[in-house]
Amino acid sequence: MGSSGWFRVQEMVPGIFVIQEPGHVQSYLVQGKERSALIDTGMGFCDIREAAEPLAGNSILVLNTHWHFDHIGGNALFTQIAVSILEAKLIEKPIPNDLLRRIYVEPFMEQGVPFPQGFDPRTYKIRGSRATRLLDHGEEIDLGGRILRVLATPGHTWGSLSFLDSRTGALLCGDFLYPGTLYAHFEDSDPQAYIRSLKRILEVEGEVRLMLGGHNEPLVPKDLPKKALEGFQRILEGARPTYTVYDWGEPVLRYEFGEVHILTKPPGSRGVKLPLA
Ligand SMILES: [Zn+2]
Repeated sequence: MGSSGWFRVQEMVPGIFVIQEPGHVQSYLVQGKERSALIDTGMGFCDIREAAEPLAGNSILVLNTHWHFDHIGGNALFTQIAVSILEAKLIEKPIPNDLLRRIYVEPFMEQGVPFPQGFDPRTYKIRGSRATRLLDHGEEIDLGGRILRVLATPGHTWGSLSFLDSRTGALLCGDFLYPGTLYAHFEDSDPQAYIRSLKRILEVEGEVRLMLGGHNEPLVPKDLPKKALEGFQRILEGARPTYTVYDWGEPVLRYEFGEVHILTKPPGSRGVKLPLA
């Protein structure tokens, strides 16, 4: 399946390329002298390896920010995969066609997003993949000429990771931070953990020159960690939700504090459980 025309590629800072998929998610290729890192692998609509390999020019290690379907779709195309020690099991299960049709294919059709050439909605599925390295907070991944430091940033999911690039000061943060509504309403989401993670990022603020997120515009507003921290703190202090929304058929609380929007699970609810095969 050809990848040309589906992914939009742009160099954000020297040696870091965003690989965007229309209307939804983005992955990042970080070039090293000895090997390169592909941070997340998208939805699996189309071969992301074909898009990433020419940018890398050497071997690719996949680093997953977290286990969600839209970040691991192309994992099975690669042999070297590193993921949080807390989420390794979750990337092993295949995601079946009927589920993917419901969550991606049908909404995309409704929005009029054109599918890539060769994509067949009837056979589309995500294969399971196996981690070859388990990551924990504080580890370093040497790519040659640049080191990615692993920062545990749980909150969106329990094992969410961010990666801080020594060469450019870019923090690649997946779904922990991006411009848009932050999701802290899943079964393995945790607002308290979100607060600790945001404080962790503010502690290394001096090293962070820019942040690149997993959805919407790649560049995360510089003041988002501080504003999101204030938002989560207000929620835990008992702020009233702005309104209730439904996700996966379950009620979810939506908070709007200026530009910061956050979804959380209602008190007593276990949160939205994403189905797995
Ligand atoms: Zn996610």
